[in-house]
Amino acid sequence: MKKVITVCPYCASGCKINLLVENNKIVGTEAAMGLTNQGELCLKGYYGWDFVSDTKILTPRLTQPMIRYKRGEAFTPVSWDEAISYTASRLQEIKQKYGKDSIMVTGSSRGSGNEANYVMQKFARAVLGNNNVDCCARVCHGPSVAGLLKSIGNGAMSNSIVEIEETKCILIIGYNPSASHPIVARRINRAKQKGAKVIVCDPRKIETARIADIYAPIENGCNVAFVNTLMNIVLEEKLQDQRFIDSYTENFDAFYEVVKKYTPEATQDITGIKPEMMREIARTYANAETATILWGMGVCQFRQGVETVQALASLAMLTGNLCKPNVGVGPVRGQNNVQGACDMGALYNILPGYQSFKDPEIRAKFAKAWGVPEISAEPGVPLTEVPNAVKEGKIKAFYIMGEDTLQTEPDLHAVREAFKQLEFVIVQDIFMTQTAAEADVILPATSCAEHEGVYTSADRGFQRFYKAVDAVGNVKDDWVIISEIATAMGYPMHYNNTKEIWDELRELCPIYKGVTYEKMEGLGYVQWPCYDESAQDTGTQYLYKDHVFDRPGGKGELFACDWLPPVESVSEQFPLILSTVREVGHYSCRSMTGNCRALANLAEEPGFVQMNDQDAKGLGIKHNELVWVISERGKVISRADVSSRTNRGACYMTYQWWIGKCNELTGENLENLAKTPEYKYSAVRIEKI
Ligand code: SF4
Repeated sequence: MKKVITVCPYCASGCKINLLVENNKIVGTEAAMGLTNQGELCLKGYYGWDFVSDTKILTPRLTQPMIRYKRGEAFTPVSWDEAISYTASRLQEIKQKYGKDSIMVTGSSRGSGNEANYVMQKFARAVLGNNNVDCCARVCHGPSVAGLLKSIGNGAMSNSIVEIEETKCILIIGYNPSASHPIVARRINRAKQKGAKVIVCDPRKIETARIADIYAPIENGCNVAFVNTLMNIVLEEKLQDQRFIDSYTENFDAFYEVVKKYTPEATQDITGIKPEMMREIARTYANAETATILWGMGVCQFRQGVETVQALASLAMLTGNLCKPNVGVGPVRGQNNVQGACDMGALYNILPGYQSFKDPEIRAKFAKAWGVPEISAEPGVPLTEVPNAVKEGKIKAFYIMGEDTLQTEPDLHAVREAFKQLEFVIVQDIFMTQTAAEADVILPATSCAEHEGVYTSADRGFQRFYKAVDAVGNVKDDWVIISEIATAMGYPMHYNNTKEIWDELRELCPIYKGVTYEKMEGLGYVQWPCYDESAQDTGTQYLYKDHVFDRPGGKGELFACDWLPPVESVSEQFPLILSTVREVGHYSCRSMTGNCRALANLAEEPGFVQMNDQDAKGLGIKHNELVWVISERGKVISRADVSSRTNRGACYMTYQWWIGKCNELTGENLENLAKTPEYKYSAVRIEKI
């Protein structure tokens, strides 16, 4: 038996695992001593590996390239030569007929690795000649990236997962650690045991609320008003760090003009929190020696997601909780490599290493390195705007790598309509997902245990993962497939291995220059920025040590704006708020975890809708009964999970299930800047069956 070091392919906690391999099969796992997990794993890390062996519990592994030459007909298995040349010629044809902006591609935040994401965005920018590349950050932490870039200059956690345990106060808002990042949840627990105050702000009484010193059951959709109120109290009670504000921030006057209106008495009806509790939260956070804010989708998936992130960064600056150890702002990324997909520039408006495509010198640098005349100066199409772009005739072909668009995007009816209108759909994946089933070409890829590369965990930590088993079937690594299509389209793209790709990336991105494969060898963990290749530069545990923010002038921007209610509102016909959430045993579209026996056995049947016991009583619905959940966009069947831990007037569904698919109900309602859907607020009703 051999042991192969890898990184967990599920959440972005970055847990290191030893895969136990016998006869080319993963037969067990051991928790390794990675920096973030220190010999611990959650159930997905331990039991989430059966899928590699094609268990067919949920759906079969893809093992052969396939083409559907005519819509409505069956797929035909083909050779790789046929798949590549057919794909390349169809893309060329569409590019010539409709122009370079008519093709869209996605990066993948799942098992593909940073190198594949780098190659995919290069394919868009150098081969297609547009910026039409995006990843699932668009539907999750896009607002964190946009908000933090505006406020402090870097769109990632300012601090580290390991620091969470050492902070004296943790303010958790719109984030369910035990379901999303069990290893982070354990660190929160340990911080609590070491004396930290834990504040949980969430409409649902989530697991972490049970250990909280203060649990604030905030109203769904109140975030901007809530954070403004905390900042109002900090300033009115003179709890701020005035030296930090004077020395390292700007825009205080305009900021204060807004914040001064948000007294706890004035916002009580919006937030649902009594003034005494508001003051207790503000005092606990501001008076702590060190304080950290952690957030998740409950912040981002609202129309004011970016503004809430800016407000949270402002709260941290107001109290001096940045630029030193064990403090900071922490958008905890969901999928294992969504930070990496962003780092690699799989975003429609940012080049690799967070370099601006608006800067002619930066564009010229990339154009020269990639041997093309220019890089487009026009932003591409955000992933969430693809259905509209298709409807308007702008996008004609869609190349999807490792995303199950027909499961995870909002308003699936609109997405299905878009798929019908697309002239050419390519899906590159490891499973026959809902999306792959609708493709014109299926390109089967190796799984994360069958290739090597680098992932980035939520706290900017680069880690290597290694090939554990040989792939079964006629499959190729993601970066190889993309390179072969590029070459067939007349742009020679040849790499011998992932290190060559990584080294090209390092040359082009100053903040990754010092992150060599050698430094990441084995259990190595290097957090960006890391500028120097010398062994002395081991990366950056927390950002802005020198109190200079990565913004023009070096100061952080204090920001506040007025609260706006969510786009949809409840009505007599649709009286409940639907919010999409996670469940701990499954991951993303469930194609991987649903094919693992222990995880699949966690639930006897698909899906549930969590609802409040009083609401259920009023509707005559009992716990475990089958119900319809209905919005103006559709209806799905689900089973009622009735309890008092869910707040009145709201219900919650996980988005992983193919039956009871809650994205049949959600609307797009995109945030203005980050274009993230308002998944956390759709008006629905629940009916007994
Ligand atoms: Fe760690 Fe997350 Fe994997 Fe669980 S799912 S083992 S917390 S990386």
